[in-house]
Amino acid sequence: MKLALGCIADDYTGASDLANTLTRAGLRTVQTIGVPSEELDLPDVDAVVVSLKSRSIEAGLAVSRSRAADKWLRGRGADHVLFKICSTFDSTDAGNIGPVMDALRADSGDTIVLVTPAFPETGRTVYQGNLFVGSVPLNESPLKDHPLNPMHDSNLVRVLARQSKTEVGLVGLATVVRGPEAVRARLADLSDKGVGAAIVDAVFDRDLETIGEVALDQRLSVGASGIGLGLARALVAAGKAKAGASSALSESPVGGPAACLAGSCSQATLQQIANAETDMAVLHLDPEQIVAGKGEVRRALGWAAQRITEGPILIASSSTPDQVAALQSRHGRDAAGHAIEQAMADVAEGLVQSGVRRLVIAGGETSGAVVDRLGIPGFLVGAEIAAGVPVLRAVGAKEGEMVLALKSGNFGGPRFFSDALDLMR
Ligand code: ADP
Repeated sequence: MKLALGCIADDYTGASDLANTLTRAGLRTVQTIGVPSEELDLPDVDAVVVSLKSRSIEAGLAVSRSRAADKWLRGRGADHVLFKICSTFDSTDAGNIGPVMDALRADSGDTIVLVTPAFPETGRTVYQGNLFVGSVPLNESPLKDHPLNPMHDSNLVRVLARQSKTEVGLVGLATVVRGPEAVRARLADLSDKGVGAAIVDAVFDRDLETIGEVALDQRLSVGASGIGLGLARALVAAGKAKAGASSALSESPVGGPAACLAGSCSQATLQQIANAETDMAVLHLDPEQIVAGKGEVRRALGWAAQRITEGPILIASSSTPDQVAALQSRHGRDAAGHAIEQAMADVAEGLVQSGVRRLVIAGGETSGAVVDRLGIPGFLVGAEIAAGVPVLRAVGAKEGEMVLALKSGNFGGPRFFSDALDLMR
């Protein structure tokens, strides 16, 4: 099997978003957690998105991890690799977008790289090289106060030039709307002048389609899920990926007992837990007991063992904002959060050891802790349960076949847990 597209994402959530975008565009897509081992047995897929945690780490480390991911993807036949960054160009003058782009470009042999974080469906557009978040320029958006990477300049030609060794040019919207040939000509012109990267304007999806088509001539591109969409559509149009094949792969049922775990305390999740009471057995953990020791995890697993054969269960640590604030003031925010995340990972591990093969997890950090603990190398992305929340089928898991749903707190409709289980056969 030869990959039509390889992607390296600089954080997990961005990787999921991209994998979901590619799947919706018709590519059979696997998302991996970190750079997979050489032995990973991939199903027959069009695209792999390698998730790294390299957005805000030291630039040298981000470069070496990204190069390792690139090598793995090229080794699986990927002719084109997308370095997936945040659609808000989340980075500092020290990197990591520039240094990683420079290194991957050198490895790819490309003379010039197309760069665009535009993703119009989420309000990210680029015009004259300036990134807009909704109706305001980046430097007037909430990103100007980002705790790790505050963005004070919306001109990406300047931003990228400050963190890259190469000169950066612009392919303006007036060129993009004239189509792929005009973009190719502009790139050739820039490249002849020694420019090694070009910010490309995009305001509508059709601009991304043009960019995707041109990017496929090259070995490397840099951007957010928007350019992923453009690349996917270009691959489908060129007959290099079969649109519509994405769902068939994840359809064969896994079966086995099902459990839901909730660590998110968001309003949406609290409502979803309340609604689940009519559909499944629900256990509310005592957060104070979790922080105190392992007894609460044992209690949860004992409770689950008595019910799991009769139908799905839900175990929640979640509590109301007042209760969360009280717990945090007693134990410290990070210590309380960490203890609860690890307890949820303990519960997930215990459930899987006892045979659970269908797991729904509510909460971003909670999902991360559970996935790390289960040591699942990757997921095949399936049908969407709710916007941005697909069914995930484990790839290369030591437990064998498993399906999961991982959602951030605010995602999903009021009956999310039942909706998820309906699709997770
Ligand atoms: P979300 O996606 O809603 O942000 P996360 O799982 O990312 O959810 O974050 C929720 C955080 O709150 C986690 O660190 C979790 O361990 C912690 N937590 C869960 N239950 C409680 C609780 N009852 N009191 C305090 N913190 C909690």
